[in-house]
Parts: sequence; C-alpha cells; structure tokens
Amino acid sequence: MSTEPTSTLVIPGDLLGTAEEFVPGHGTYEDRGKIYAALLGHRHVDPSDRAVRVEALNAIPSIHDEDLVYGRVDEVKSAMAIVTILTAAANQRPVPGAPEGTVHISKAKDGYTEALSDEFAPGDLIVARVLQSHPSVKLTTAAADLGVVAARCQSCHGLLARGDKELRCPRCGNREHRKTASGYGELPSAGPKGDARAPG
Ligand SMILES: [Zn+2]
Repeated sequence: MSTEPTSTLVIPGDLLGTAEEFVPGHGTYEDRGKIYAALLGHRHVDPSDRAVRVEALNAIPSIHDEDLVYGRVDEVKSAMAIVTILTAAANQRPVPGAPEGTVHISKAKDGYTEALSDEFAPGDLIVARVLQSHPSVKLTTAAADLGVVAARCQSCHGLLARGDKELRCPRCGNREHRKTASGYGELPSAGPKGDARAPG
C-alpha cells in the first residue's frame, strides 16, 4: 500500500510540504504550517494517511532483509502499526538511529486481520522479521514465533500475563488480545533463523 517509488534524498531543514498537504511523521518537524526534514534520509509519503516522513539514511545499512528485530509499537493505524526498531534479536545490540519500521495489516498474523488494534497496542514490545530493509523497513509478525513478547495493561499499565486465549492482567484482571509470539513473556536469545516461514 505504501510502495511509493519516489525516495528523494533530503537533508535536515529541507522543506517537505505544507501542513495542509501532509501530516508530519517520523523524522520531520512542523514550523508555522510547513513541514521540514529533521534527518538526513529519504522522503516518503504514505498515501493512506498523507503522512510525510524521513527514513534516516544512516540507519538503513544496519538492518537487513530476514533479520529478526525487537521493536516498540509507537502507533497503531488502520492499515499498519508503526514500530521503532530497538535491537537486533540475534545479538541484542541497539540498532543505530532507532529506525522506524511498519507492520502492514496483511503481515500481522496468518489469515485475515479485521482490526490491527486487536493485535497490537502502543507500547507493546514485539519481535518481528524484516521483510524489506530498504528504502523503508517493512516487518512481519505473521509466523507463530513472531509478534508481541511483552505488553502492558491498557487500564493499569501492569505487565500482561499469558492467559488461555488472551492476555490477562494479574493486577486488575483486565483481559486484552494481542498477536502474541510463541515466546510471549520471555526474551528469546539468538535462535535458528530458518524456522519461520515467510508469509504471502
Ligand atoms: Zn491491569
């Protein structure tokens, strides 16, 4: 959906557009109705919500296709979840620049996903596989070993525990649904890479 072929290189301070045209996204800032690049990188416009963002140039080489990464869900939109990539799962090292990645609704889980907000919530820690590292980072959580590994209760912020079908808050009893990874609640160390099949 967001496969826009244009990827113009911009430097910090470059005018990206006006606030009437676009919504300021990751790597941008707004000043007096105009949106500027905050990073050196590539300009992207998400056609689904007119968000303009800058994918940091220096962050791109540190992520490769097929990598497993940990990320934090920042925002859940109707078509995608926006994730800050924190560490590579293989070595737990921080990914320089904490680049942004997205999980499209079709890559969240096996089969049809009716609402992405039933699978992720802001603040969730996820493990995901990189489908595409360049020019933008696209992630999948569809395989059984991928998805949310830690989530907080939306009402009391307690850490949710795995229940029968849903997650359950030990503190207040709240129940929430997520697309959990098989290793929910544990942070798996480097594992074999070949066991998760690529969706689609
Ligand atoms: Zn709770």
